[in-house]
Amino acid sequence: MGAGVIGLTTAVVLQRAGHHVQVIAAARGEGTTSAVAAALWYPFQANPPDRVNAWSRSSLDELTRIAREHPEAGVDVLTCREAAVDPALPWWAPSAPDLSLEPTPHPLGAPYSFRFTAPRIEPALYLPWLDAQLASPVRVERVVSLDAVEGDVVVNCTGLGARALTGDAELVGVYGQVAITEPGDISLDVALGDERNESALVYIIPRRREIVIGGCAVPSPDDRPLTPDPERTDAMLQRVRAAGLNPGNLLRSRAGLRPYRSAVRLEREGRVIHNYGHGGAGYTLAWGCAAEVSELMRAAPRDGGGATHRT
Ligand SMILES: Cc1cc2nc3c(=O)[nH]c(=O)nc-3n(C[C@H](O)[C@H](O)[C@H](O)COP(=O)(O)OP(=O)(O)OC[C@H]3O[C@@H](n4cnc5c(N)ncnc54)[C@H](O)[C@@H]3O)c2cc1C
Repeated sequence: MGAGVIGLTTAVVLQRAGHHVQVIAAARGEGTTSAVAAALWYPFQANPPDRVNAWSRSSLDELTRIAREHPEAGVDVLTCREAAVDPALPWWAPSAPDLSLEPTPHPLGAPYSFRFTAPRIEPALYLPWLDAQLASPVRVERVVSLDAVEGDVVVNCTGLGARALTGDAELVGVYGQVAITEPGDISLDVALGDERNESALVYIIPRRREIVIGGCAVPSPDDRPLTPDPERTDAMLQRVRAAGLNPGNLLRSRAGLRPYRSAVRLEREGRVIHNYGHGGAGYTLAWGCAAEVSELMRAAPRDGGGATHRT
C-alpha cells in the first residue's frame, strides 16, 4: 500500500524477488509527498541512527548503480558539501564511505565542510521510472482498514497516512518547503547544505536544469495547508543571496509534510509489514528498507498470526 518512493521501491524489490505484487494507493505521482522532495541522498530527520546508517548505505549503493546504468531514471551522483561547526564526524558518517573533512570555510559560512559524493534524484523522472517496472499498474483506491486489504501479506507504505490506518500517535507531519529556480550563477555539479540552525535550514541542490533551494522543518498538524508560503520562499532565497550565491528566476515553490517518527517503523505484525515514518530521508532509505521488507516476507507466518517481529 502506497505509491510514494517507499511503496514503489518496496514493490519493485518484492517483484524482483518473485512475488506477485499489487500496489494500492490513494494518490500517485504529483499527489504524494515524495513528489515534493528535494531529493538528495542525505540521512536527515530519521531514526534510529544504527538502522538508518545501514539502510542509507545500502540505498547509496543501489542509487549509485541506477545513476550509472539508467540515466533515464533521473539519478545523478553529485559532490556535496555540508556545513560543520567542528571537525567531529557526523552521526551518519558510517553510511558515507568517501566522507572527508575540509578544513576550509563552507560557502554558507561555517568554519568546516564535510565533503562526500551522493546521488540526487529527480522525482518527476524517478517515480514514473519505478512505476513503469511494475507488472500490474497501481490501483488508485483509498483504503480505510488494513484488515480489508486482500493478499497473503500487506506491506504498509502509506507515509503519513499510516496514522489513520494504525492509530500510531508517534507519527507526525514535519512541514517542508522548497523553491525551484533557474540555475543563475549556481553550479549544477555541487550540492550545498547547512543545518546548523534547524529553524532556518539552507540547502541548494542542483537538478539537471534547475536548482532546488530549501528549506524548513516545522512539526505541523496534518491539515496544515500545503500551499507554499511566499514569505518563507523569499526568506529562503534571501539566505542564499546573503551568502553571495546568485540563483536565477523563481520557477515555482512546493510544500509537503515529512512522515516523521522517533524511529522508522519497519516491522512485521502478523500478515502486515509496516514500512513508514521515514521523515526527511525517504529517498535515502528506500532501497535498504525495501530489502529488509523482502527478508521479513520470507519469515511471514503461514497462519497470519498476530506476532510482532522486529529485526
Ligand atoms: C520539502 C521536502 C524535501 C525533502 N527532501 C528530501 C531529500 O532531499 N532526501 C530524502 O531522502 N527525502 C526528502 N524528503 C522526505 C521524503 O519526501 C519522504 O521521506 C518520502 O517522500 C516519504 O515517502 P513515502 O512513500 O513514505 O510517503 P508518500 O510519498 O507520502 O507516499 C504515501 C503513499 O501512501 C498512500 N496512502 C496514504 N494513505 C493511504 C490510504 N489510506 N489508502 C491508500 N493509500 C494511502 C498515498 O496516497 C501515497 O501514495 C523531503 C520531504 C519534503 C517535504
